[in-house]
Amino acid sequence: MNTEKSIKAFQEAVKHIPGGVNSPVRAFKSVGGDPLFIQSAKGSKITDIDNNEYIDYVASWGPMILGHSHPDVIEALHQTAINGTSFGAPTLMETEMANLICEMIPSIESVRMVNSGTEATMSALRLARGYTQRDLVIKFEGCYHGHGDSFLIKAGSGALTLGTPNSPGVTKGTASDTLTAEYNNLDSVLSLFNEYKEQIAAVILEPVTGNMGVVRPTDEFIQGVRKACTENGTLLIFDEVMTGFRVAKGGAQEVLGIRPDLTTLGKIIGGGLPVGAYGGKKEIMDHLAPNGPVYQAGTLSGNPMAMAAGLTTLKLLNSTPDFYTQLEEKAQFLSAGLQNNLEQLKFPGVINRVGSMFTLFFTKENEVQNFSDVMKCDTELFAKYFRLSLESGIYTAPSQFEAGFVSIAHTKEDLQKTIDASFNALKQLKN
Ligand SMILES: *Cc1c(COP(=O)(O)O)cnc(C)c1O
Repeated sequence: MNTEKSIKAFQEAVKHIPGGVNSPVRAFKSVGGDPLFIQSAKGSKITDIDNNEYIDYVASWGPMILGHSHPDVIEALHQTAINGTSFGAPTLMETEMANLICEMIPSIESVRMVNSGTEATMSALRLARGYTQRDLVIKFEGCYHGHGDSFLIKAGSGALTLGTPNSPGVTKGTASDTLTAEYNNLDSVLSLFNEYKEQIAAVILEPVTGNMGVVRPTDEFIQGVRKACTENGTLLIFDEVMTGFRVAKGGAQEVLGIRPDLTTLGKIIGGGLPVGAYGGKKEIMDHLAPNGPVYQAGTLSGNPMAMAAGLTTLKLLNSTPDFYTQLEEKAQFLSAGLQNNLEQLKFPGVINRVGSMFTLFFTKENEVQNFSDVMKCDTELFAKYFRLSLESGIYTAPSQFEAGFVSIAHTKEDLQKTIDASFNALKQLKN
């Protein structure tokens, strides 16, 4: 594989971009080597500037559930651009978007559009604090909620990959308002409620984690958290920026059968453009300006281009019969194949999958249920596996602590090729 042009491009990029990238995990730091510069992508494939083609499981870190450059999305963007790209005034598409979100995710009765997942979680937390008139928030080790100050405490994703789960620059005051508990450990949550009675505004979590790799909550844990929030007048925030419209049409809350008070969205909702959203009970959302005192605003919020791409994507997800059944079949085929590889080669590892999100953990443990399990993974082995995958034309996230995404554009042939490549990589690693 020749990546000469990417290597040169990276040398240029580092001159005037910190670390050469506009988001840290893109830099391949934890796996070694230089990042690939991307030229184009179509369907399940992504092509770098040296013209190497890969089967893509990064999916722009989640959004591209339809595959890249879906013709309907591209057409919607063309049509929208002709009429002007931003007005700073209401448009019909925003109402249509809100209606569709509320239809697809019934716990959301009212929804505000923002421009990223980070903005969604920051705003939802401010709203929860304003609404409850309390300051504290409980988050979970290894969960990532964007880069807002309150959430960079024991954070997952890039913060974890790069070894900075607690970021410098977050003030002690802010850090002390964030309490952390252990995922899938209800007692760790209940004891915080016990200690900080009546002070906890919100519990926020990834209802299926992706940012420490894929971990599903146990029923006992998630139901217990819901109950504790209700009993303590604390808002339960599901951060569905990754899982929303991904693990089911109605997100993880549909899969788990739990109704959160607030939900944050991003990624898929933008169809590949920068979008986030947060919503929930109307009674809570009405505390936002201009109806209520909690302030939150955005020059480009509800931007026509972003609404066009997002709305086209959501409409397709909502109206294609069997969309999620087909997606499930694809993801099931892939994870069964990967599991079979592990067994055939007697290679230690755990595959966690919920819907079209999956992670292959390089661990000798039998299961991965929380952050401390995740931390037992062999990240050096992962790095070698990553490089072998790349060389055989499979593009996955350059970190052990991430999810892979299957899109509707992945063909059986793509998936089989991936399973075969994985087998060969594991076989090489065994020797
Ligand atoms: C990606 C992600 C975010 C942050 O979204 P950005 O658009 O990157 O700001 C927040 N929460 C979760 C669960 C995510 O996966």
